[in-house]
Amino acid sequence: MEKDFKPRYELTVMNTLSRKKEKFEPLTPGYVGMYVCGPTVYNEVHLGNCRTFSSFDIIYRYLMYLGYKVRYVRNITDVGHLVGDVDEGEEGKIEKQARIEQLEPMEIVQKYTNLFHSVMHQMNTLSPSIEPTATGHLIEQIEMVKDILANGYAYEQNGSVYFDTQKLVKEGKDVYNYGTISGKKQDDLLTETRDDLKNQSEKRHSSDFAIWIKAGPRDIMKWPSPWSVGFPGWHLECSAMSTKYLGDYFDIHGGGMDLQFPHHENEVAQNVGACGCQPVKYWLHTNMLVLNGKKMSKSKGNSILPHELFTGNNDILSKAYSPMAVKFFMLQAHYASTLNITEKGLQAAEKGYLRLMEAWQILEGLQHDVDEELTGDDAQINKMLDLAFEAMSDDFNTAAALAKLNIIIPKINSLKNGRMEMSAISKATLERTKQVFHDFIFEIFGLLDETKNVEDEDGSNLLDEAMKVIIELRQSARSQKDWATSDLIRDKLQKIGIQIKDGKEEASWIKN
Ligand code: AMP
Ligand code: ZN
Repeated sequence: MEKDFKPRYELTVMNTLSRKKEKFEPLTPGYVGMYVCGPTVYNEVHLGNCRTFSSFDIIYRYLMYLGYKVRYVRNITDVGHLVGDVDEGEEGKIEKQARIEQLEPMEIVQKYTNLFHSVMHQMNTLSPSIEPTATGHLIEQIEMVKDILANGYAYEQNGSVYFDTQKLVKEGKDVYNYGTISGKKQDDLLTETRDDLKNQSEKRHSSDFAIWIKAGPRDIMKWPSPWSVGFPGWHLECSAMSTKYLGDYFDIHGGGMDLQFPHHENEVAQNVGACGCQPVKYWLHTNMLVLNGKKMSKSKGNSILPHELFTGNNDILSKAYSPMAVKFFMLQAHYASTLNITEKGLQAAEKGYLRLMEAWQILEGLQHDVDEELTGDDAQINKMLDLAFEAMSDDFNTAAALAKLNIIIPKINSLKNGRMEMSAISKATLERTKQVFHDFIFEIFGLLDETKNVEDEDGSNLLDEAMKVIIELRQSARSQKDWATSDLIRDKLQKIGIQIKDGKEEASWIKN
C-alpha cells in the first residue's frame, strides 16, 4: 500500500500503556497487525468471554472499514494450565476436564474449540486471519525460552525455567517499566506470589514466573525440551505466536482487563527478555460483563452460557434472547465500560434491535427519483451520520454511534407512509442514509437481520407453518410433563440451526 495511505476517518484509541487516548498510526501505513488472547478450550465460553471476542470483532471490522489491511491473530490456548495456585500435584485444566469427561485431552480441546467456533458463528463474528494453537507452536516457545535464557533474563531450576523479574526491573527498565500495563506499583508486583507454579520454592523471587515447567507424574500433556519433559508457562504462547505472525513489534494487542496482570505484564516481560524490545504499540483492554454485581466467571459459578441465553434454558432470565438481541445489548456499552447483564437491559436491547432492523427495511424500500434541494432535515440527518462515524472513530464507541443512528430513526419511520414526506429529504441524503445504515448494521456491527429469511420464493411460508406444528407438539409434550420429548425436539432443531425461544405466553422460533 502506498505511503500516503489515508484511512476513511482518523481513529483514536485508548492505549493502556499510556492510559491516554492516542491517534492511531500503525507501524506500516495501511496495514494493521492485531493479536487478541483467545479462549482456553477446556469448557464452554460464557457470555463474558463472548463480549470480549465480540468487541474485538467489531474493532477488526471497523479497522477494515477504514481501509486498513488487517492481520488478526487470535490464539487457542490448548495447553492445560494449572487449575489452582501452587499445590504440588496440581492438575492442568484440560487434563482435569478430560478425566471428568473420560476423554483424551485433545478430544476436550477439539470439542470446546468446535463449540467456541459455533458460538462465534451464532454471534456473526468474523474468523480471525490466523488462529494458532499453543500445542502447534511448541518449537517456537522452546526457542523463545532459549533466547530469554541466553539473554540472562531467566534461570533453570530442576528442569523448570523461571523468568527473572528482578533483572527486568533493574536492567530492562529503559525498554519496559515492569508494571506499566497493569498499573501496579513495582513493590506490589515484586511481592506478588500468585501464579500457576507448582514449585514456588524453586523461584529466586516470589514474583518470578515459570516459562517452562517440568511435568509431574500426573501430567499427560507434556513435551521434550532441553530442560525437561514438561510444558510451557501460560504466558509464553502469546509472546511466541504474536512474534511469529506479527513480528517483534506490532500494532495492537487486546484481551480482557482481567488479563492485564499477570498475563499481559508477563507477556511483555518475555518479549523484552527475548528480543530486548517491547512487543506492542497499542494495548487495548475490554471491560467485564457483570452478572449479579460480580464479574461473570464460570469458576465462581456466576455465569450464563450463550446457548442458555439463546434458548431460554436458564434460571436467571424469564425468556430466550436471540444472538442479535444479545449483540445489540453489548453494542449499547463502550467496550471499556463494565456491562451489567439484566433482564430489563436485554428486553430494551431486543426492542432496540427490532426498531433498527425495521428502520433498515423501510430505508431499503424507499426510492427517490427527483433530485431536490437540500432542506433543514437533510442537514440534521447528515450531521447525525457524521457524528456516528465520529463516535466510532473515537475509540470504537459503538454506544455513542448507535445513539446517533437512533436519532434518525423517527425520521425514517415518518418516510414510510408516502410521497408527501419523501420530499422532506433529498435524494442524495436518502442514498447516503441508506449506505451508512447498511454499513453500520451489517459491516461494522456485524448484525444479521433475524426478522427475515423465512419466506419462500412464492411468498408462502411453509417453514413457518411447519414450525408452528412442531412448537404445538412440543407444547403438548410439555403440558404432559414429557420433558424428554420436549428437550429432544429442542435439541434436534438446535442442531439444524433453529432455536426455539420459550416465552412466558407462547414459544417462537428463529434461525441461527
Ligand atoms: P479465558 O478463556 O478465561 O482466558 O478468557 C477469554 C477471554 O475472555 C479473555 O480475554 C478474558 O479477559 C475474557 N473474559 C473473561 N471473563 C470475562 C467477563 N466477565 N467479561 C468480559 N470478558 C471476559
Ligand atoms: Zn495471551
